[in-house]
Amino acid sequence: MEIKLAKEMGFCFGVRRAINLVEKEAKQRVDTSITTYGALVHNPLVVNRMEKLGVGVVERGDMSQITSGVITFTAHGVTPEIIEEAKERGFEVMDATCPLVTIIQQAARKMVEEGYTLIVFGDRNHPEVKGILGWAGGDAFATMDINDLKEMRPPKRLGIVTQSTQILEKFREFVCQVHLHFLGKTKEIKVQNTICAPTTRLQGSAHELSQECQVIVVIGGKQSANTQHLADLCQENGATTYKVEGADELNPEWFRGVATVGVTAGASTPDESIQEVVRRLQALDSTLN
Ligand code: SF4
Repeated sequence: MEIKLAKEMGFCFGVRRAINLVEKEAKQRVDTSITTYGALVHNPLVVNRMEKLGVGVVERGDMSQITSGVITFTAHGVTPEIIEEAKERGFEVMDATCPLVTIIQQAARKMVEEGYTLIVFGDRNHPEVKGILGWAGGDAFATMDINDLKEMRPPKRLGIVTQSTQILEKFREFVCQVHLHFLGKTKEIKVQNTICAPTTRLQGSAHELSQECQVIVVIGGKQSANTQHLADLCQENGATTYKVEGADELNPEWFRGVATVGVTAGASTPDESIQEVVRRLQALDSTLN
């Protein structure tokens, strides 16, 4: 069985930056309590590593559990109100929002200030999308379904941005549907493709891999949206796709009679998880053949 690796996979720049920031701070300030607002990344290995460094974590929406010290906002970003609340409670704020998410937040705010009704193409329950909506302020909402917009009174100006990790093909389809529905009713439609460059490269590599392999293993946390997007993309491309958090979830039966297996990983997956999966696949190969 040939094992092929995606040209680009694993930690993106924003996640790496957030982890480095927190690790550095935790090592330098051992007497200060550091708490992340929500898991730093959606990956249990990273969360455990942070625990060992003494970094706490509280659920998003529940700052009351923190008594003092540093509060860290994750790469996904938060609303301005949450930053304000942290300051009012007297916490020191360490903002690890990815600069590429900040660009989306600012684009969203600018569109709303200029009078656009804003649509964020993304999962409305995802922290990044909630943060973008918060920065947009007024007339903005999130959806990925054109049917949600059909009852809406056509606005004069309609703006669209996207969650950073969305799939370009799906965004393109959505934008076409919006144009079909609103052109002629709305004076102006402005679209800003805010899928980040690391996501585009990650998805491009996964796309290439899924065309070369019968089976694809996608590694990433169960809660990780970008990992799920990679898995969807590979599956839709015709490769039998399995999503795992780690090597222990690999089932030997998935690889019986398979000539080529591809490995890719979400932007929040550490190198250790990828290496473990590859080692396990190599071991399986020698027992299956
Ligand atoms: S996926 Fe893109 S926007 Fe999100 S943290 Fe990584 S680099 Fe930043």
